[in-house]
Amino acid sequence: MRALIVEDDERLGRALSDVLRLHGFTVDLVPDAAGCLRELRPDTDVVVLDLGLPDRDGFELCVRIRREHQVPIIIATARSDLPSRVHGLHLGADDYLVKPYDVRELLARIRAVTRRVQARAPSGAPGSSGPHPLEPLDVGPVRIDPARRIVSCAGSPVPLTRKEFDLLILLAEHRGVVVRREQLLSEVWQTSWGAGGRTLEVHVASIRAKTGLAGIIETVRGVGYRLGTA
Ligand code: CA
Repeated sequence: MRALIVEDDERLGRALSDVLRLHGFTVDLVPDAAGCLRELRPDTDVVVLDLGLPDRDGFELCVRIRREHQVPIIIATARSDLPSRVHGLHLGADDYLVKPYDVRELLARIRAVTRRVQARAPSGAPGSSGPHPLEPLDVGPVRIDPARRIVSCAGSPVPLTRKEFDLLILLAEHRGVVVRREQLLSEVWQTSWGAGGRTLEVHVASIRAKTGLAGIIETVRGVGYRLGTA
């Protein structure tokens, strides 16, 4: 496993690197956004991203990484307010950790996000992610292709973030059935902290807006969500 740590606090960065190496990781440590973009490699398995960086805001960097890479991103920051958390996840981060955190917590999050990515997208074997790979399915003009992880509307690709993909595909896998909020939060975010927040709602709203099809996801009040039929 190869981890890229983006952290301008030298002591913290070194301490983190040491612990991850002890746990068998190959670690690249960089102090700024420029270093991150330079050191990010095709075989990087996870990025641990501080938000307060000297040369660029971590949120911007997150967007930049996500534009070109599917690598899991864990934001690790002192910003603990809910809007920051939701914003980070909305920009395509996979998880959000508030400083100071226990390094065991970080290891657990890294394992969770990397497992999830491997389960969703086995490298070099598109479409072989399970015994019953889902065929593309259509909701009105929107086509969802789980195997290729492509969503298009009337033939044009819809630029969803990875979390939006995961959410939509999870609903597609349960087509016709209401999926409970708790299940969506635990399967897509592997956490329950957002249960009281608006993360899920924000993502649903974004998918509706980006596809231009409000009915692509139906809200079942007090329970959860269901893939739309029209
Ligand atoms: Ca910092």
